Amino acid sequence: MLNSKITPLQLEALLALLESDPALANQKLKVLVKDKNHKAYKLELQIMLGLSEAYLWQYVTAEKILRIALPKAASEHVFFAAGLAYDELASIYLIKSQIDLAMRTWLKGLQLGLQQHDINTQLRCNLGLGKVFYGMNDFRNAKRYHLAATELSYLTKSSEQICEVYLCLGVDFIRLYEFDKAYAALKIAEENLNTAQHQQRNFCEIRAYLGIVHAGLGQMSLALQCFEEATLSAQQHNYTWGLALAHIEHAKVLVLLQRYEPAIELAQQTVAAAKAMNSMAFSTQAHELMYQIYKDQHQFELALQQHIIFTEHYLEKIHRSQDHQLTSTTIALLKQIHNVQELEVSLQENVHLINRLEKHQELIRLLTSKAETDALTGLYNRRALDTRLEREIELAIQLQQPFSVLMLDLDFFKRINDQFSHQAGDRVLKEAAQIFTQSCRQGEFVARFGGEEFIVLLPGADLAAALRIAERIRAAIESCIWSKIVPALKQQTVSIGAACRSSDELADSLLARADAKLYEAKHSGRNKVCG
Ligand code: GH3
Ligand code: MG
Ligand code: MG
Repeated sequence: MLNSKITPLQLEALLALLESDPALANQKLKVLVKDKNHKAYKLELQIMLGLSEAYLWQYVTAEKILRIALPKAASEHVFFAAGLAYDELASIYLIKSQIDLAMRTWLKGLQLGLQQHDINTQLRCNLGLGKVFYGMNDFRNAKRYHLAATELSYLTKSSEQICEVYLCLGVDFIRLYEFDKAYAALKIAEENLNTAQHQQRNFCEIRAYLGIVHAGLGQMSLALQCFEEATLSAQQHNYTWGLALAHIEHAKVLVLLQRYEPAIELAQQTVAAAKAMNSMAFSTQAHELMYQIYKDQHQFELALQQHIIFTEHYLEKIHRSQDHQLTSTTIALLKQIHNVQELEVSLQENVHLINRLEKHQELIRLLTSKAETDALTGLYNRRALDTRLEREIELAIQLQQPFSVLMLDLDFFKRINDQFSHQAGDRVLKEAAQIFTQSCRQGEFVARFGGEEFIVLLPGADLAAALRIAERIRAAIESCIWSKIVPALKQQTVSIGAACRSSDELADSLLARADAKLYEAKHSGRNKVCG
């Protein structure tokens, strides 16, 4: 390669080497750029040398090389290399917190990408612009650019890029509290993990962010599981940033679950990881979390210590964010390019993305409904009941409305299993469940409490109303022609206990009172309503 003239194919091989072994690529490029034989590709080689320096974390050298090569590449129409240079240079500016320069550089890159119909450059620049907006806490605009990048990623057919852009998009959705969409985006990222080069890091991040999503959707045990997987992966691959992310988010969820001690421990580990990276963002969050925990536990001295640390961090952050203002030139460029881009995007069909999102949302609906449904009867299960009961009680307090519950238990049910069969018992359970549902109105909630016991929640019903509804249910069970369900079954009855919530009463006590009334119904002859 060193003696003969370079071919485009060899350039491509060098580009691949940059990704896999930047140190070796750097060595070769240093020789190649000095060789007069390769004058025709001088700019490409220079830019690749700049990239290799950046990949080796030599940002000062990289910036110098790229800043010299870039204007020449643009004026001499070496567009492919220019696109790469814009993206890398902008990334370096972002790392240095030079937001305005980063934005302008990516915008210029995007402009070039659009003019040249260069999908890869457009993709990289949209991704970068999204990151700039994200850094400015402007998550709507971050989402906008990352969405554009996801569309382009399908055109590149590179699962590595699809994974990366959906990961970014997922994080934007999290910050916008759109957890369903975040879930869908992160799942797509996960599906495309297989060939991604930074697979381990992406896996760790996807798990940690999915943990945040699950917590946001109230699925706490799934959330904890995700954080544990993320932590494990980060530890295995010495990925400190991922470790800090998993720790701090894990700690936040533990606080919600009132598990303060392990939360403090994780917050302290977050501080340690942040220190190792010299990153303030994570440690600020950790100190703030510890401050809140100590304050809630009335350990005011410890709380004060944490408060002092995190306020210092905030002041520093405010100081730094003054550099986050965009200049008017950048804003003008943004507007100008944006119009062109919107046109391009509207020309492309967006159907693919929407289909994928819908597919995942359908999956979420299915999973949530499965998790809340009793498989045999199709009624809500105990888990759904617990959540619903808490919510109904809160609502009753807010609306100052009565609230009642019924506890139902089929009479002598064991005999059906014994005399006929377990299958016959199952059929009776299903039929009874249908009768309960039919006897209730909209807003009333029927759940299988376990075995042959059921619960009905009656928002707005006082005890008299609850007793009326209970009697309606009792009569409906009694008058059902049960021989249609199990031929030899002549009769089936139900006993019901009713309780209306008294002021300040919480779920457990209310259920216990309904249970006591059910016991009363059973012991005064069954097929009865007591309240
Ligand atoms: P009581 O009138 O005092 O309530 O008498 P019982 O026989 O209904 O009450 P017991 O608690 O003694 O028995 C309940 C039976 O319900 C025991 C169990 O085998 C049966 N069972 C619980 N779950 C299922 C189920 O999913 N399918 C069937 N077929 N039977 C079930
Ligand atoms: Mg029972
Ligand atoms: Mg029973």
